[in-house]
Amino acid sequence: MKQYFELYQDCFIIKGAKNILLCDFHFNKILDITDYYNLFIDEYYFPVEDHLLEIISFFEEEGFGTTKSNYSSKMLRKQFKWRSASKINEVIIEHRIEDNFDVKKVYKIIEDLSASFIQIRFLEFSFSKLKEILSLLELSSIRTVEVLLPYLELSHNKKVIDLLAKNSRIMTVYFYNAHENKSIIDNEQLFTIIYYEKNLTNPKNCGIISEDYFLNDIKNISKSKTVNNCLYGKLFISNDGILKNCPSTQKTLDNINNVSVETLLSKVHKEKERLITKDQVEICKDCEYRYFCTDCRVYREDPENIFSKPLKCGYDPYIGIWEDWSKNPLKKKAIKYYDFKDFN
Ligand code: SF4
Ligand code: SF4
Repeated sequence: MKQYFELYQDCFIIKGAKNILLCDFHFNKILDITDYYNLFIDEYYFPVEDHLLEIISFFEEEGFGTTKSNYSSKMLRKQFKWRSASKINEVIIEHRIEDNFDVKKVYKIIEDLSASFIQIRFLEFSFSKLKEILSLLELSSIRTVEVLLPYLELSHNKKVIDLLAKNSRIMTVYFYNAHENKSIIDNEQLFTIIYYEKNLTNPKNCGIISEDYFLNDIKNISKSKTVNNCLYGKLFISNDGILKNCPSTQKTLDNINNVSVETLLSKVHKEKERLITKDQVEICKDCEYRYFCTDCRVYREDPENIFSKPLKCGYDPYIGIWEDWSKNPLKKKAIKYYDFKDFN
């Protein structure tokens, strides 16, 4: 009787210009199947033949699929859909010792936006302000908090860490401008401390594309197929109250001191960059990593073109090679345009 090998529902193929990947987003596995892609019909099944038994048994052992007496209808294959209940899900907010906004009022607006993630950036550190913010978040619907702080002297760091570690919403604390790069992970408390030499609050340090940041999970893949995986749902509030999509963009939306939640949401709705998917970005649309990769719509190879490839990516999907993006002569003009001086 005729037999067929069929991929499991959580496995799918991503075709790039040169390389083709088989991805299992449930078990987070990726396999290069460039040499075997032509076997597949409709990218999910093929008939079993004697000379294919070895590769079929490898696919099965690795958990990518199974052999069956018939293949499923294409209509029954899993489809990627991504939806979000709120237009703003992720807020990045800057603080100094003195902010140009009413902290209590702003955190109330963040609450009204129903954001579930907040990154709190201290450009200058104030222990009393940190305590005030934590008390404002106590009954909040925000589930995950990241805190960025300038590196302080050791005894001060410890006092801050002791306070933050007690708050179960705080998952990660970054100390920027530190003497070394290192991380301390507490898996039991789900609490991570990261020391970083770079100044993470400098907008020019954002937008790096690296395999280290790739995410092979259904949430990221579906989001990448539907909207912009970096900008959709994001809101930046500067210490001056300026509202922007992200800290690095030039375009401003409004000022938190003058805006209502309704006006803000209608302005957010009009920003085209939030909806650009990886399948629409030049070069990325031919890259096998396009659904795992992050995106950057601010620093682009062609600053005039909103669909241009992220500037800080060194991968060429047409030859399948990574190189140092900052040394690429074709990027010189854009590097000058954005005035990047230091790539350490
Ligand atoms: S669009 Fe670019 S600069 Fe803005 S947050 Fe995303 S990666 Fe960073
Ligand atoms: S070309 Fe670079 S930025 Fe684009 S999807 Fe591939 S790795 Fe990501």
